[in-house]
Amino acid sequence: MKGFYNQILKINLSNKSHQIEPVADELLEGYLGGKGLATHLLLENNPPGVDPMGPENHLIFITGPVSGTSIWGSCRYGVYTKSPQTGFYSESYSGGTVADYMARTGFDAVMLHGASSDPCWIEVSDQGVFFHDAGDLWGLDTFETEDRAKAWIKENRPDAKKCGVVCIGPAGENGVSFAVIENDYWRSAGRTGVGAVIGSKNIKAMVFWGSQKKEVANPDLVKKYVKDVARDARDDAGVQAYKSKGTPMMVDIMSNVGSFPTRYWHKGEAAHRESINADALHEHLDVTPNACLKCFIACGRLAVVKKGRHKGLKIEGPEYETIYAFGGLCEVDSIEEIAYLNDICDRLGLDTISAGNLAAFAIEAVRQGKINYDIDYNEPDKIADLLKDMAFKRGIGETLAQGIKAAAKKWGMEDQAIHVKGLEPAGYDPRVLKGMGLAYGTSPRGACHLRATFYKPELAKMIDPDQIEGKAEMFTEWEDRLIIFDTLILCRFYRDLYPWEELATIIRAVTGLELDRGQMKTIANNISTATRRFNIREGLTSEDDKLPKRFYKEVLPETKKVITEEEMDRLLKDYYQVRGWDEQGVPPVTS
Ligand code: SF4
Repeated sequence: MKGFYNQILKINLSNKSHQIEPVADELLEGYLGGKGLATHLLLENNPPGVDPMGPENHLIFITGPVSGTSIWGSCRYGVYTKSPQTGFYSESYSGGTVADYMARTGFDAVMLHGASSDPCWIEVSDQGVFFHDAGDLWGLDTFETEDRAKAWIKENRPDAKKCGVVCIGPAGENGVSFAVIENDYWRSAGRTGVGAVIGSKNIKAMVFWGSQKKEVANPDLVKKYVKDVARDARDDAGVQAYKSKGTPMMVDIMSNVGSFPTRYWHKGEAAHRESINADALHEHLDVTPNACLKCFIACGRLAVVKKGRHKGLKIEGPEYETIYAFGGLCEVDSIEEIAYLNDICDRLGLDTISAGNLAAFAIEAVRQGKINYDIDYNEPDKIADLLKDMAFKRGIGETLAQGIKAAAKKWGMEDQAIHVKGLEPAGYDPRVLKGMGLAYGTSPRGACHLRATFYKPELAKMIDPDQIEGKAEMFTEWEDRLIIFDTLILCRFYRDLYPWEELATIIRAVTGLELDRGQMKTIANNISTATRRFNIREGLTSEDDKLPKRFYKEVLPETKKVITEEEMDRLLKDYYQVRGWDEQGVPPVTS
């Protein structure tokens, strides 16, 4: 089928063998690749109840049909597995440059299972699959690992010219449940602990290169389409905002509505917001807008600290979510210090959202006398030490490395921990943006902001944030469209440029399939139901879709808002109904 190679690479790490298997057109037509194909492969290949850190858990790298084409926002890959952080479905995506190299190998997906007996890194190209000893890489941070792998390829593979590297830092090696897979230094498949899974398989890095080029159905249409989109988006306000301020612009936007999570979810606005917002970033760091391949939005901030003790520190970031996690939840009141903590997480391979949440949770535990440890809000050096302790599983870091559920249980703070299914939310308080409550509750990977990005319609007043009635319908519409984004694997920030009709054009141009909105929605619903089935197989019940009790009871001081349990129950009930599931959120056997 056009847009695909119709083949996947299966690698058995236990005996270091591999095989190439065909993928039938019917499967690709039914799922459109990406998330859909990955979910099908996980359901087929992962034994139910598998230990996420055990050899039988599969880890799947996938590019979508648009990867390797010139479609804007297409340089993105997905990683899918069973999460060690939640025990449920795991999906995580990353931009940068790597997806283009993955797409040149000639495979639609690379599946890992088993475990290597010794540390190794894997080279995947159109000329073969090679396993390399990673003894000298083990223990290195992500930046050094990427540099070394690239240098090896440059020296030993004259045909490669360039390559893409994904790798883990010490956190992934040590099995930290929220370890990331990093690429291009600062880009990461950041959530649900995919770095811990690849680390459990003794894989330090994967390198992709090749010269294969997928055939697309209508190259002329692709060419014209990308030209038209770039022209039409030139004056788009959203594009201009992302380009000029990047995601840190959300600090002010969220603070203005009292939904910027602060002081471990006790407040909705930080008094020091002006020292951590987009203006502060652009004032205190030298910033150049930076883009993934195939992108004109360039939301990335390539930034160098201008003055002070971190002068010269270079980073792509910090992104809004990192600013919220350290600047909001941990109340660090300096953008340079947040950049410093961001850099530590990137090098060690920690998810900044989970790491910031856990650091703030530890601060709360200390303040309440639950643990004996020296740390408080706005103490960046002590937070930095704690991050290192998490990555190397030292002291209380060992407890935190197991994730929020385990830490809360150990410290007797389960009623205070903020998470859904073991994953901490992003920087959108659902007491103010109630649709985000539904998003956190129903995302298959836990409290995720990206599956529906429902903060967007609520902030844009497309729907009243307090409205409950009828919200699930609109929410599902957004989620469905973004599931199609995840099958094609497109960047979220193109969501305003790619409504349903545009997605239909992209699919037609790349794959040749003529799909209308209803057909795309059916595919999305099938994929959503498949992820639900995966999770139910792993023990999920509707109780796992509930929000932390604090959101129901603890009033935000600025807005006096909560989301009541009744409101959340109604949202869930309506959502299950729209999806065609029963009152307990269980899909019918036959659909
Ligand atoms: S908008 Fe940002 S994340 Fe998306 S492709 Fe462009 S640079 Fe990458």
